[in-house]
Order: sequence, then structure tokens, then C-alpha cells
Amino acid sequence: MPTKPLDRLMFVQGGQCFFCKQPLPKAEASVEHLFASSNGGSNNDENCVACCKSVNALFGSMSLKEKFQVVLNQKGQFKCPNGTGSVKISIPSKVPPTNTPQAPPKTPAIAKTKDDKLAFVVANLKQRGNSKPRTLKTLTSTVGSLYPQGVSKAELASLLQQLQLTGKVIVKENKVTYVL
Ligand SMILES: [Zn+2]
Repeated sequence: MPTKPLDRLMFVQGGQCFFCKQPLPKAEASVEHLFASSNGGSNNDENCVACCKSVNALFGSMSLKEKFQVVLNQKGQFKCPNGTGSVKISIPSKVPPTNTPQAPPKTPAIAKTKDDKLAFVVANLKQRGNSKPRTLKTLTSTVGSLYPQGVSKAELASLLQQLQLTGKVIVKENKVTYVL
């Protein structure tokens, strides 16, 4: 027969926290006086429960009425505020970042200056190996597709012009060849 109050309470509660019903490691367990000892609550087992330290700390010297309120507010899904339960308190703050995927990481690193843009396009064309666009029309749409956020016609034309001016792309009778 366990003699320490905590051991007795843990045994009676089947090793679970009185409030959240999660398995309660002894290191995380503490004795909560339902009727706070600071208010004259007794040390008898009928006034004590074993529970997560975190909820014990939360309850502090709340009145029994306030504790009831806290418990009832949980609507039967009591989770001690320690994150060891099946639902972690930290989840709500972690969810938003995954729910709101930020566009920048997925879009290619679109360069700011004209030279960088050109280098970006050239690098992309290089990656295509033998499956580079063969006509000016497909090259134009390929380059345009590198800018999922849209690119102006003028900008696109300027890029294609630069590709030709720098000799990276040679356009002859609408056929495109590459010198990358
Ligand atoms: Zn608990």
C-alpha cells in the first residue's frame, strides 16, 4: 500500500492526471488541493488529486468556484496547459505559417536587375539541356513562364532582345539556336 499521498492518488487515478486524463509521469505529477490549503483545505485524500504540475500551478490558490469555471470552460476536453496532452497548446501558433504558404520561397528567385534577370533566364535555359524551345514563339512563352507573377510584354521583349544581343540566343527565320 503506497503511503505517500501522491503515490496513493496516482494509484487511485490509474496513473492519469485527474484533469486531462493523460498518462502522468511521476516527475510531472503534483498534488492539487481542490480546496486550497491556503484557504484551509485539508490534506486528506478526498481534498487532493494528482495532476500535471502545470495545471496545479495554474490553479494556484484559486477558489474552488474558479477552478470549476476553468474546468467547465474546457467543455469536457480538458487539457492541462503543459503540452504533454494529445493536443499541444503550441499548435495553434504553429498552424498559421503552414496554412499561409508564402509565395516567395516557391517562386524562382527573380532577380532585380536586368543583368540578373538575364542570367536567371540563361541559367534556366541551360538546365533544359536538349529540350530547349526551338522557335521564337515557344522561347517567348518559356521565358514568360519563368515569371509566375507575370511579366510585362515590354520586359519580355527586352529580355529576348538581350538574349540575342549577348549572343546567347540566335534567331534565324524563327528557329532558335543557343550559345550558352
Ligand atoms: Zn493533466
